[in-house]
Amino acid sequence: MPAFMRQVRHITHVYKGHRLKIKQPGEFCNVCDQFRLSPEDIAATAEEITKFHTSVVKVQFGKTRS
Ligand SMILES: [Zn+2]
Repeated sequence: MPAFMRQVRHITHVYKGHRLKIKQPGEFCNVCDQFRLSPEDIAATAEEITKFHTSVVKVQFGKTRS
């Protein structure tokens, strides 16, 4: 039976071809790859993801200038 279970999973966040492994809390389906995130779950990784995006943009900006 498909069911959403609350757990923390290691997932790969991809941004502009760069990858970041994060520990994402949320409700994950036990059958497929679907998951549901509450505002608290999103907030738990928001800072890490924002820093990652900033670092990716800096790298790309550096490349275009060199
Ligand atoms: Zn499912």
